[in-house]
Amino acid sequence: MARWSWVAAGAAAVAAYNITLAALSLTQREALLSAGVREAEVVAATVTAELESRLDTIDHTLSGIAEVLTAAPPAALTNEYVHRLLIRRHAVTPILENLLVVDAAGIAWASSSVRDMAPLDLSDRDYVIAHRLSVRDDMFIGKPVRSRMDGEWVIPVSRALESEFGGLKTVVVSLLSPERVDELIRAHRPSDGFAVLIRLPRGHVAACVGLADCSLEAEAEPWSEESSRGSGEEAAYLPGIHGPGAFVGGERYGVVTIAAIDRTRLLLPWQDSLPFFIGLSVAGTAGIVVGLSMLRRQIAARRWAMDDLAEANAVLEARVIERTRELADSEDRLRSFIRAARDAIVIIDEHGAISEFNPSAGELFGYRAEDVLGRNVNMLMPDGYAREHDGHLAMAGRAGERPAGRERQVAGRRADGSEFPIELTVGTRVIGGRTYHVGVIRDITERKANEDTLRRLANLDGLTGILNRRSFMEEGERLFAIAQRHARDLSVLMMDADHFKSVNDTHGHDVGDLVLKTLAATIRGCLRDTDVLGRLGGEEFAVVLPETGAAGTEVIATALVETVRAIEIPLAAGGTLRFTVSIGAASRNSDSAALGELLKAADGNLYVAKKAGRDRAVCGAAASM
Ligand code: GH3
Ligand code: MG
Ligand code: MG
Repeated sequence: MARWSWVAAGAAAVAAYNITLAALSLTQREALLSAGVREAEVVAATVTAELESRLDTIDHTLSGIAEVLTAAPPAALTNEYVHRLLIRRHAVTPILENLLVVDAAGIAWASSSVRDMAPLDLSDRDYVIAHRLSVRDDMFIGKPVRSRMDGEWVIPVSRALESEFGGLKTVVVSLLSPERVDELIRAHRPSDGFAVLIRLPRGHVAACVGLADCSLEAEAEPWSEESSRGSGEEAAYLPGIHGPGAFVGGERYGVVTIAAIDRTRLLLPWQDSLPFFIGLSVAGTAGIVVGLSMLRRQIAARRWAMDDLAEANAVLEARVIERTRELADSEDRLRSFIRAARDAIVIIDEHGAISEFNPSAGELFGYRAEDVLGRNVNMLMPDGYAREHDGHLAMAGRAGERPAGRERQVAGRRADGSEFPIELTVGTRVIGGRTYHVGVIRDITERKANEDTLRRLANLDGLTGILNRRSFMEEGERLFAIAQRHARDLSVLMMDADHFKSVNDTHGHDVGDLVLKTLAATIRGCLRDTDVLGRLGGEEFAVVLPETGAAGTEVIATALVETVRAIEIPLAAGGTLRFTVSIGAASRNSDSAALGELLKAADGNLYVAKKAGRDRAVCGAAASM
């Protein structure tokens, strides 16, 4: 929500609240005003009714007196008689101050209050003048005047008596005290602040309550109201009083009661309540403003948090995209390295399934990548190793990440089933919770072959191709140990070409070499595969004969001597060369401790054979040296 919407919402809430408050306050004000009007109406109506009723009583009293005075013979109308009559009539009309009888000249001659009243001139009074000018039947209510008897204010209410000749005969006057009228008003207890005024038919004021200036002397002002009753909130019926008021005029005697209250005065309780309403307005407005601003702040804070979150999310997403691209790049790069590598690279997962198989691997194993991807790597191994490999894989999986280890020489199996030696280096990587084993594989068939050749060359005699001294001794000792462990027969022969020096000397060194090669081949040809032949040095040879006792050895030795004797080597210069060997033999017995001992014994017999003339074999127990 935009800032201005918040301001608008706040303004609307504040306005609604304050309008409600103002309406409440105005309602209170209206109630006060209408209550004021109602009270004015009630007071005016009741006071008028009451006064009219009193005037009615006075009218009856005056009428009664008039009747008696009319009916009585003039002689009877003594001062004493009339005084008594007036007293009696006064007794039934206690509201009156006094009753007077005035003659046609305006001289009062009888009173209810004074016996033998001294004549009193009242000819200037308005009621006397009025009755004189216009004799009438109606009761006349005159202007309030000060009594000429006691100086008190009185309201004269009079009735005229006609003479038999049509002129004014007598006026009966009753005097009403304004105080009595005041009491009548007060009896109705108007609320504080109410002013009540009674106007007489000719406009004079009969009594008033609650007005600052309530002069009975004031000249009558004409009553402007046309109707007999009226009311209003904004009335100005009484001087100096502006506010709710009402007036009610009497139907019979024309007295008007006006009740009114000053608006300001009436509204005092309302005015007193204004600070409370203003306080409520201020507090409520502040509450709404604070509440809305807190709400706005809270919503804004939440929105900011959401924005921040969205922004962070966008940044994260961008990073993920970037990272994914980098990863894809790096994967592409890695894959291109792998593809370009000269070594075979095979990557498998923790279950042994092939996930990467580069072209070099394809060349090496004779498979296309699509033929092996997803299949178990065991297919690239000989059966025996494949089983072992499953165990390795399980262990490697538990061990977690490891750098490439040492090269291992194992065997691989090609698509055609042929096996070949490989050198394997395996590294383990854990990527995204999955374990991958990266195998770098090299075909070492050629290297193996070279190594075998070297090893063989190191073990064989270069001239004759049979074992050299060191290899012969190793192999011989191995066989001797077996024979010793199982108490089996074993014999040895020591052989030496006779007069070989002279062969060299006579025919040359090459012929000598040829003789040595021929001799070695001849001996080899006479032996079993399990027998071991070696050249100990020069023209000396030795043989180990497993599973051969002394008798068998003698047969072999003799046969060897004879076979060699029969050899004829054709010479380049023509003719043939013949040569002989001497042999000493020895056989293992329970005393024999080592091969060296046997060879020494055989050497002893060889020495004997040489001494005895050469071209022979000497077997049996070693001759004494
Ligand atoms: P005897 O019958 O007592 O054994 O006499 P002999 O001449 O064989 O003995 P001697 O030990 O005196 O001579 C051995 C000769 O063998 C000496 C040496 O020149 C020769 N010889 C040693 N090795 C080779 C070789 O590799 N090739 C050739 N052609 N001659 C060799
Ligand atoms: Mg020799
Ligand atoms: Mg010799």
